[in-house]
Amino acid sequence: MTTGIILLLTVALLGVCLFRASYDIRRGVYLKALCKKETVERVVFLTFDDGPDERYTPLTLDVLKRYRATATFFCIGKRAEEHPALVRRIVSGGHTVGNHSYSHSNAFPLFSLKKMLADMKRSEECLERITGERTGLFRPPFGVTNPVVAKAVRLSGYTVIGWSVRSLDTRGEAPGKIFRRIVKQLSPGDVILLHDRMPGCPELLVLLLDYLDEQGYKVTGIDKLVQS
Ligand SMILES: [Zn+2]
Repeated sequence: MTTGIILLLTVALLGVCLFRASYDIRRGVYLKALCKKETVERVVFLTFDDGPDERYTPLTLDVLKRYRATATFFCIGKRAEEHPALVRRIVSGGHTVGNHSYSHSNAFPLFSLKKMLADMKRSEECLERITGERTGLFRPPFGVTNPVVAKAVRLSGYTVIGWSVRSLDTRGEAPGKIFRRIVKQLSPGDVILLHDRMPGCPELLVLLLDYLDEQGYKVTGIDKLVQS
């Protein structure tokens, strides 16, 4: 094999590795995201992305209240703008709101730095107007990271929250199936990724919170992860 071909194959392989890394926030290749708390204490963090949703966010909040559980909601700015009362309800329930971009555009990871910063800022300002305070937390759309996302986060001064347990709840499977997938992976300190826009979210949450309670897990606020 000539040196040229070997070099080409090496570059191609590196490209594939970097592309795959961009889709797995847990690898921390481009930026440091808090994905799990290193602890033996039975605590977990629930995170809900892509809301607020007028149908399922209220039901999700009802379940959390019933179980006295605290969670974090990574809201999409444009949805927050449409449903400010829901964002206020999230905060008044003792939960945390984080920035999940304004547009949640499929093209977000490919935005220029300027466009990405503007999108993040628009969401930040919208959430700040509604809640009265700036969130210091960001979760990139789709959890995709790359050098531009890393730079945008650095310039904006955000703490990035990833996850250690991916429920894959957006596939729309039965809540029982998603629940089993989650608990199979679960260990102390996990950050669980859920979506409060999914119809099965409240039912899944009941199964999960019953299980966590039985197993002696405390469902706690994200500040315990950020401060650790
Ligand atoms: Zn999302």
